[in-house]
Amino acid sequence: MSNSMTQLPANEPAAVPQIARRGVLYILSSPSGAGKTTLARRLLAADPGITMSVSVTTRKPRPGERDGVDYLFVDAEKFESMKATGELLEWARVFDNSYGTPRAAVSAAIDSGKDVLFDIDWQGAQQLSEKMKGDVVRVFVLPPSGQILEQRLKSRAQDPPDVVARRMAAASAEISHWAEYDYVIVNSDLEESVRAVTAILAAERLKRERLLGLSVFVRDMQSAL
Ligand code: 5GP
Repeated sequence: MSNSMTQLPANEPAAVPQIARRGVLYILSSPSGAGKTTLARRLLAADPGITMSVSVTTRKPRPGERDGVDYLFVDAEKFESMKATGELLEWARVFDNSYGTPRAAVSAAIDSGKDVLFDIDWQGAQQLSEKMKGDVVRVFVLPPSGQILEQRLKSRAQDPPDVVARRMAAASAEISHWAEYDYVIVNSDLEESVRAVTAILAAERLKRERLLGLSVFVRDMQSAL
């Protein structure tokens, strides 16, 4: 240990060193009705270091959804041309529509150490994991129980029983992929789940492998000792 350590004046906080790192690709998946969208919104609102990946979809906008904010709404022809030209990092059919993640925004964000949040299904999570292995962190959000999920899916709209049954089947299919995720949150208490997604992100940001600037930082530190 050196005895020539710089003494900081009392009450003056140490400057936090900025260590270059790769961004985290933070994936949230769940059956619809498990609270994933609320969790995503809370995380984005509280943390300026993470931005949402805006997917492309052939689905028609729902009331209140904004083009370029909630999704980039495109027709099937445009979607196919984006696929063909390699503009999509991953894509999948969900229900009767196509969904995909535009590549450009994601590459730019991770290279500059920004984190990106994805609300995508298990198919997208699998593809991103294959393509960007070390960058991906996958969280699966489960509802507190099947009964509660059923109630939520039924109360979402006055849908006919066959539509509700289809949603339940889709939820069950999505849930069957839970074991492919790095973390699983049972969303019984929203505040606790918000703390969990925040804590996971905080820990993943500190992973040694992501901290590209760490060896230089430590080398400089050692040279000063
Ligand atoms: P919704 O139509 O309700 O907005 O989304 C339906 C499902 O598609 C959700 O499970 C959502 O996570 C998933 N999804 C949305 N965007 C994408 C995407 O870009 N890729 C994949 N694979 N799934 C997506």
